Amino acid sequence: MSRVVHNFAAGPAVLPEPVLERVRAELTDLDGSGMSVMEISHRGAAFRRIAEKTEGDLRRILGVPDGHRVLFMQGGATLQFAAVPLNLAPVGSTTDHLVTGDWSMRAAREGARYGTVNVAADGSPSYRTIPPRDGWSLDPGAAYLAHATNETIHGVEFPAPPDGIEVPLVADMSSTILSRPIRVSDYGLIYFGAQKNLGPAGLTIVIVSDDLIGTARPETPTILDYAAVARSGSMLNTPPTFSWYVAGLVLEWIDAEGGLAEMAARNQRKKDLLYRAIDASTLYANQVDPEYRSWTNVPFTLADPALDPVFLAEAEAAGLMNLRGHRSVGGMRASLYNAMGEDGVAALVAFMGDFEERWSHGSLPTGAPT
Ligand code: PMP
Repeated sequence: MSRVVHNFAAGPAVLPEPVLERVRAELTDLDGSGMSVMEISHRGAAFRRIAEKTEGDLRRILGVPDGHRVLFMQGGATLQFAAVPLNLAPVGSTTDHLVTGDWSMRAAREGARYGTVNVAADGSPSYRTIPPRDGWSLDPGAAYLAHATNETIHGVEFPAPPDGIEVPLVADMSSTILSRPIRVSDYGLIYFGAQKNLGPAGLTIVIVSDDLIGTARPETPTILDYAAVARSGSMLNTPPTFSWYVAGLVLEWIDAEGGLAEMAARNQRKKDLLYRAIDASTLYANQVDPEYRSWTNVPFTLADPALDPVFLAEAEAAGLMNLRGHRSVGGMRASLYNAMGEDGVAALVAFMGDFEERWSHGSLPTGAPT
């Protein structure tokens, strides 16, 4: 039997156990075909059924309105940093960006290769809050306003879509998609990689309003042209069939568990439990403005960074995996995607309490308080 652990990785990330079991059960024999889903044509009837059901389930679970297309693409969110301006920003236009962490900063930097980027709000360098709405310098003529709903590294999240935005709103939802209900019609375009809350890496989904497609720049690679991808039913070339299939199973799991309302309730309890433990302690700290703390990625530091390796090694020995913070910021980070159970967060909080207790008694190898 394999070891039971709780995986707090930021992405690729934990998947629901029943989904993995189903993948294992079907891996060598999909629907009695005697073949694996990895071995069949993306244009055959069996895969088409999977593809259509996955899109239908995603549309229903997220509430995607008829006027929005759902595109199954590749290249990760990072390729969308370029695809979005190529499709939505005409030559010579300006795009507005809210820079609230590393990922929205990268999107702005890539966007600057294609036109004028106006950083309407800038949370750098600390990225601990979302700059106040009344200070944003929005350009009324911008092609769109781009933001990341959640900054996976810095743990800063928009609790709701920004209000009073007159131009199409573009959202990188890589680390929030399916974590709670959203109103898709608030957004002109949403994109996310599958590898955090939906399935294995390799699949990137774009949800885009019909009226924003069809005007890509002429030099846009066909494979990045949303209109061309939409016309082909996301089958311009060979899609990442295995990731698409697993994403479909994850959506079935979300349904079976009670849908996005249930995911949101669980996610709220999970993050409340962890932030409460951090705030009540003298050893751990999270510096993000409480109003904008992420539900899914909780970075925290130890009062004595010399203890970081001890914490990580002991956590791992206790089955609490992948808690190391992103290499650019250090410290710790616990990612609490849908498939992370409440028992996993409870185990982490119990471990943190025990570790702090030993620290406060000076019984850790280093870093006891004085
Ligand atoms: N945006 C956000 C918010 C992310 O968390 C990530 C990945 N961690 C990316 C973009 C980049 O995604 P990808 O690796 O799919 O290109």
